[in-house]
Amino acid sequence: MKLTQKIRIFPNHAQKTVLWKLSEKCRLIYNFALAERMDAYRTGAKGVNYRKQQNDLPLIKEQFPEYKWVYSKVLQYALRALAADYESFFALRKNGHIEACLPRFKGKNYFTTMVYNQSGFKIEPGMITFSHKYNDIPLEFTIPDKFSFDDTQVKQVAISSHRGRYFVTITYELEEPPFVDNGRYQAIDLGITHIVTAVNSQSKFLMVKNQRPDKYWNPKIAKVQSRKDKCKKFSNRWKLLNQIKQKYERKRDDQTRDFQHKLSRKLVENTKANTLIVGQLEVKCMAQSNKVPKAMRAGLNRATQNTGALGRFVHFLTYKSRRVGKRTIESDERNSTKECWMYGKQHFMPIWKRVMRCDCGNVIERDKNSAIILMKRYLSQNAKWTGYRVFLDNLRHTAKCKTKVSPIVGS
Ligand SMILES: [Zn+2]
Repeated sequence: MKLTQKIRIFPNHAQKTVLWKLSEKCRLIYNFALAERMDAYRTGAKGVNYRKQQNDLPLIKEQFPEYKWVYSKVLQYALRALAADYESFFALRKNGHIEACLPRFKGKNYFTTMVYNQSGFKIEPGMITFSHKYNDIPLEFTIPDKFSFDDTQVKQVAISSHRGRYFVTITYELEEPPFVDNGRYQAIDLGITHIVTAVNSQSKFLMVKNQRPDKYWNPKIAKVQSRKDKCKKFSNRWKLLNQIKQKYERKRDDQTRDFQHKLSRKLVENTKANTLIVGQLEVKCMAQSNKVPKAMRAGLNRATQNTGALGRFVHFLTYKSRRVGKRTIESDERNSTKECWMYGKQHFMPIWKRVMRCDCGNVIERDKNSAIILMKRYLSQNAKWTGYRVFLDNLRHTAKCKTKVSPIVGS
């Protein structure tokens, strides 16, 4: 399986200058190639494609020797990135997305991500080095010891910059342990207040409260933003406030991601189940956005904005489980919040209704109910009948559904 690891690097002043010089060349070649493609698009000229543009590179380097600074494959990759952007634009248009717009020219202060594919980099324990010909300053960066890569596994390394920080993203191949169905399962309902409500095939529950760093940081960010709006653009004060704002946003994003990394790792490691079942997020959002009173809609929109984050969480779960020979399966979640798990009666369950009360005597938190439904469906659809019966028997015996609520799953 292919995995990526993003690592922060700390270039010194001279190295930063080199990085920006190289990135600038990649930016220009991207813009240049984009202009050429747009011209061809307008005039209907044929044959302006990746191959042609790549073949033109030697000629360009002849005329403008400074393009030789950049490792040649990196420059080629900038063209490939453009080709990909372009193709996705046409694909979107073809599928009826009229709002899709052409790839844009990259602005002056844009740091173009530089991709070293297969060659041009060297990884040694604790160190990564990149080739370039701008000057003699070596582009070598220390990487923490906890990251170790077998040289032959690494396929690609990218250098990027975001909000004033620099990163290398290492793509490598890892052999996957084979998956064995050990007859144990864990169904996971992903929510906003409880990011995880899980039930295992022994009918034990686990609930984890979502950490919402955004709730702490967003008001602060809004405050700085409004102060910034009152300043003259690009004035010293404006720049200062802009820096502060970026810092807050960074903290918010880092904290959210850290929490998700920790939680997904713990979930995968701490369960005996080899199969984790999560609901499909897309279905969930659509189901919820219907039939919501207008007054509630704003709150809901804010809540579902988090689904981007939840999507990432599912992604974390998926690869972290594959890495250890387990697997995460996305299962059909339709109506899982409406259906009473006991006898299947359908209820009207708008998102603000946290508890389901059914005629059959079942009173249960909605998240728990949906985790049970997920598990029931998975077991029945995959004909795991023994497991299905044991699971439901256990549930009925412990009708009160003992729950372990932990605010965070350790660290
Ligand atoms: Zn019922």
